[in-house]
Amino acid sequence: MSPVAIPLEDLVPEYIKHFTAYIPSKPDDELKKLYGCDQLYRLNNNENPLGPPAAARPIIEHFLAPGAAIYPSGDAYHLRQALGKKFGLDPDQFLVGNGANEVIAFVIKAFCQEGDNIVTADKTFAVYEWIAEFSGFAARLTPLLDFAFDAEAMLDAIDKRTKILFICNPNNPTGTYWNREQLTNFMDRVDGRQIVVIDEAYCEFVEKEDFPDGMELLRRYPNLVVFRTFSKMYALAGLRIGYLAGSLEIVDIIRRTCVVYSVNTLAQSAALKALNDDQHIIRTRNHIRQEKARILPLLNKLGLEYQSGEGCFIMIKLPMSDTLAYRKLMTKGIMIRSMTGFRFPNWIRVSIGTTEAMTAFAQALTELVGTDNKHLI
Ligand SMILES: *Cc1c(COP(=O)(O)O)cnc(C)c1O
Repeated sequence: MSPVAIPLEDLVPEYIKHFTAYIPSKPDDELKKLYGCDQLYRLNNNENPLGPPAAARPIIEHFLAPGAAIYPSGDAYHLRQALGKKFGLDPDQFLVGNGANEVIAFVIKAFCQEGDNIVTADKTFAVYEWIAEFSGFAARLTPLLDFAFDAEAMLDAIDKRTKILFICNPNNPTGTYWNREQLTNFMDRVDGRQIVVIDEAYCEFVEKEDFPDGMELLRRYPNLVVFRTFSKMYALAGLRIGYLAGSLEIVDIIRRTCVVYSVNTLAQSAALKALNDDQHIIRTRNHIRQEKARILPLLNKLGLEYQSGEGCFIMIKLPMSDTLAYRKLMTKGIMIRSMTGFRFPNWIRVSIGTTEAMTAFAQALTELVGTDNKHLI
């Protein structure tokens, strides 16, 4: 008996037909074979090269097998208590998800219906745009202005069907940020008409005095939603845990779209310990600062344009195609993010890795752009 033909033409929504799946990178062993390199430095995902905070390590190392048989807390109870205490908010103002990626979907599902749209920048973290589009909602994208979110353009893009505005602060990949005044001006002009999401995935890396703390602004702006993650500064990317915070009223709505049990037990307990390890933040900031101070002079010597702002990454413009550069760097065991997909053709984004990885990157980059100076760093 031959299998029946599935009428995909009728079954699949138009917006899914036109959407292309994101293809993640292959595992290290496969990539090493493919590119013929025997070690691989991953500088593509903005992971913390120092690894998880000391306070969280015993939890990860001593997770006991019987615990795997038991469902986790369905609403990350203890972690939300700790978040409430840390930020002086009600624990019910937090929703924890399977990475901040999952909470993006919670918010879009909670507020958008057919015909609605979201507004964000064209060159930012692409997941806001992707989730909106594969859920059937338009993403209205405004160009960056001097590598930063353009408040005027975003306000102009709002129409009657706009439900959510997404701002990445500081922005991945450009590292630019809105200061307190820029952010509060924007919030005042939105005047509660839409939900404003501030994605603070990299806020723990920022040392600037005028950087706004979204958590503080929640009291003043009940339409504000703040995203944070344990993947970047807290180095728990492999455990998948992030969260959002908002007013009780807004979070009560968003909670209706949460998938219960999506955050595993180990992630919850490791995050609980990581949250108050301030030493880890200091060590990581020092490392990032030192490595940036080594790599930026090299970029200057090589005459390369770059964007180095807040966060654990830099963006570099190359005199060649970024996809070609990706392949060439891979043969030298360096994985970077090519930026054509972020609408920055010829640019690459490089995460600040270990000192060893950054030295290897410096060497490979120097060879790539073809100068004779072999020992610039
Ligand atoms: C990495 C990242 C996230 C999401 O991280 P999760 O691992 O899903 O928690 C969200 N926003 C930005 C801007 C990021 O760079």
